Amino acid sequence: MWLPFTQMSDYEKDPLIIASGEGVTVTDIHGKTYLDGYSSLWLNVHGHRKKELDEAIQTQLQSIAHSTLLGAANIPSILLAEKLVKLVPERLTRVFYSDSGATSVEIAVKMAYQYWQNKGLEKKTRFVTVSNGYHGDTVGTMSVGSIELYHKVYTSLLFDALVIPFPSVYRHPSGDENIVRDESLQELRLLFEERHEEIAGMVLEPMIQGAGGMNTMPAGYLKGVEKLCNEFNVLLIVDEVATGFGRTGKMFAVEHEGIQPDLMTVAKGLTGGYLPVAATFATEEIYDAFYGEYEEMKTFFHGHSYTGNQLGCAVALANLEIFEKEQLVKQSEEKSTFLKELLVNVKQLPHVGDVRQCGLMCGIEIVKDKHTKESFPLESRVAYRATLEMRKLGLLTRPLGDVIVLMPPLATSNEQLAEMVALMVEGIKAVTEESVA
Ligand code: PLP
Repeated sequence: MWLPFTQMSDYEKDPLIIASGEGVTVTDIHGKTYLDGYSSLWLNVHGHRKKELDEAIQTQLQSIAHSTLLGAANIPSILLAEKLVKLVPERLTRVFYSDSGATSVEIAVKMAYQYWQNKGLEKKTRFVTVSNGYHGDTVGTMSVGSIELYHKVYTSLLFDALVIPFPSVYRHPSGDENIVRDESLQELRLLFEERHEEIAGMVLEPMIQGAGGMNTMPAGYLKGVEKLCNEFNVLLIVDEVATGFGRTGKMFAVEHEGIQPDLMTVAKGLTGGYLPVAATFATEEIYDAFYGEYEEMKTFFHGHSYTGNQLGCAVALANLEIFEKEQLVKQSEEKSTFLKELLVNVKQLPHVGDVRQCGLMCGIEIVKDKHTKESFPLESRVAYRATLEMRKLGLLTRPLGDVIVLMPPLATSNEQLAEMVALMVEGIKAVTEESVA
């Protein structure tokens, strides 16, 4: 085995091998049970072994497991598309399936690029992205991503995106949301004024960046970006891979500011974390630019062997039914209010610099000095060690640099949330106190 995003020598020292899961817990091969504090990489909405999802797969197996024929569709993928377009912002009427978050974004980028080619605006080829953005690990998605640690090593392999700074309130000298928002939007306006003729699209994660450190945007920033994209004829591509399906207290994070993007991508929670299905949504206007009498170059040249996989689409349909039946979005909103209260105690710890939260998506930033915001030295791996400590205590989560992620399944009860936060506090204390001593 060679595991993703893992220094394998760390794994060899102390391997964790999961054998089973039940609700919001997983159990390893030695029988130790853990609370799943990051939803198995941010996707297990209902936790593990949800009866309705298990049954949806078994039922679909009685017809067919999978077929992808170019130029042909299948029943579960049609039903799912019908359902999805009723949930996403209303301008998005077309659904293109793939099999991971990265491919869904790669597709959006290729669609935006080809859209302008098809329209005869060949100069519009470049993409704007926000610093610390993360959209996946393919060459295309790394090109529109900008996390130094992950992307620097591949620089000469990537195409060149235009990167604008993320509007970070915590790192801005003013600490004032409105100032940060207005300055950042002004910077984007200047870029668009100068270069809009060569810009095809702008790609960003809405409301909160995930892998870049759980960075929350000031209110009004996303709305401002949408306005500027419309004004300067730039396609707005919103990546809801992490934020979609109730994670932020809305079905999709764009709903916080009533955004109507041109392209939007989803994956992770689409199947409740069961099977790899992803989707890219496009407007009718974009679709139309690829449609008409046969013109070879207007075909969208993209597809995957598992496009529209029947088992995956069947389980996604069952997942959406659970959202309705259990009113999960409402539940997520309520639980995030409860979690916010719990996190007040975490913020007070001597080495917690910032706590950022959007719904049930949270990041806790560890600092050496709360007042100067100075970090612990990189080699002390303080957040990583804190997550190892939490693992010993029975909580699984992950570090992102100096930030510890808390992204529990939406099915987590308030009692379990309180337990997760208590274990986090214990883990952080154990490591930060020892690092200072
Ligand atoms: N986009 C965002 C915002 C993500 O958080 C992720 C994964 O964490 C991706 C894209 C990539 O998704 P996948 O790992 O399914 O390729």
